[in-house]
Amino acid sequence: MTQDPNESVEAFRARARDWLAATLPRRLDRVAADTVEDDSHEWERARELQKTLYEGGFAGICFPTEYGGLGLGEEYQKAFTEESEGYELPLLLNVPSFAICAATLLETGSEEQKRERIGAAIRGEEIMCQLLSEPSGGSDLAGLITRAEPDGDGWVLNGAKTWSTSAYAADWGLCLARTDWDAPKHQGLTMFLVPLDAPGLTMNRVRMVNGSREFCEEFFDDVRLPHSSVVGEVGDGWTVASRQLFHERSAVGGGSPYISGRRSVRTRSYPAPDQVARAVGADDDPFVRELLGEYLALTTVHQQTVERVSGAITAGTLPPSASSMLRLLHAEVGHLSADLGLRIAGSAVATGDGGTPGTEGWAGIGYLMRQGGSLGGGSTEIARNIISERMLGMPREHAPDRGVPFREVRRGN
Ligand SMILES: Cc1cc2nc3c(=O)[nH]c(=O)nc-3n(C[C@H](O)[C@H](O)[C@H](O)COP(=O)(O)OP(=O)(O)OC[C@H]3O[C@@H](n4cnc5c(N)ncnc54)[C@H](O)[C@@H]3O)c2cc1C
Repeated sequence: MTQDPNESVEAFRARARDWLAATLPRRLDRVAADTVEDDSHEWERARELQKTLYEGGFAGICFPTEYGGLGLGEEYQKAFTEESEGYELPLLLNVPSFAICAATLLETGSEEQKRERIGAAIRGEEIMCQLLSEPSGGSDLAGLITRAEPDGDGWVLNGAKTWSTSAYAADWGLCLARTDWDAPKHQGLTMFLVPLDAPGLTMNRVRMVNGSREFCEEFFDDVRLPHSSVVGEVGDGWTVASRQLFHERSAVGGGSPYISGRRSVRTRSYPAPDQVARAVGADDDPFVRELLGEYLALTTVHQQTVERVSGAITAGTLPPSASSMLRLLHAEVGHLSADLGLRIAGSAVATGDGGTPGTEGWAGIGYLMRQGGSLGGGSTEIARNIISERMLGMPREHAPDRGVPFREVRRGN
């Protein structure tokens, strides 16, 4: 189906409204895959839904037509998201596959990578994930020690990654590795596009405190990669990673044009404080209403900041590092939501049916992931550092390894 480039936003919106009503089922609010052992059916369903969107001409709205998208502006995506509220959508594919990985490839990938990987993602055939953090630590990303060495006309990858969201369901991973140990830490890195079924790659799922197994760890033992798997230039992986981090902060903060549908992060929509208040019958309590007012004020500020900051970054009046403000606020909203949920539910937080949205026990499960929001996409402390150094012009953090060949940098055991 070919998109008419001159179709107005309102005509597109009306067409989307009719198509959604005729094609997609209404969303059933049920608990996320997070709490179940095997959620492969959720991913299969997401791929199916993505194919349906593609066949209906509503997939990859902001991706260029040459890579399988519709080549339309953000206002069209916004209209589709508004109209699609309440319908079942492939939300699992938004982050990291579309909003982070495909967005990064679009800016930094080769023509072949863009045509093949972005095209396949939009058609619902493939999913991508991020392989950045390592067991030795994630905040100092440029200090990573997974290595890729040249071998014939390709590369050999060795090392380990961790905290890779939904890697078990993905086909490809964007993997940052060290390719030059004599260069300073930011300059000796290269980004690779790694097939997750490559021989020598072992993947384990990590069980979290809330029962979810959405994170994975990967071990690379002599994984062979063709030269065509390099994203960007050899030795310039930091440029690619920086764009990836920008897209991650925008996606996590709620400001990405590549997110289709209202909820951006998996289906783990833990109960908002007002849902908890209704579930425990406290929505008439004056004190609880005051707490809910506090939450409403912060979420309103969050929403308006997302629009203002994303618009300013697109217009070039704020630097890309401003996405850290969205990332920071996202964590603040998540913390307040989890804290109020716990407070409003009271002792009921540990009882009741934890598996059904809107019931008391569910707030307790949500609380267990409270800290996740201030770590994923780079920690809150790192976001504050970026805001202070790159936006407010405050002095840079002391870095004894700056400009030092990585081989000579002192590291832990
Ligand atoms: C929900 C979620 C999803 C994630 N998804 C992915 C993924 O898909 N792929 C992936 O590669 N990784 C992923 N991660 C990992 C994430 O990127 C890391 O958790 C994050 O970068 C922090 O790294 P770390 O956990 O190793 O903590 P560390 O880097 O060990 O930091 C520990 C603590 O020290 C603080 N700290 C560290 N350095 C400084 C500093 N210079 N100044 C002040 N404080 C500092 C940190 O803020 C943190 O509180 C995810 C994490 C979460 C929670």
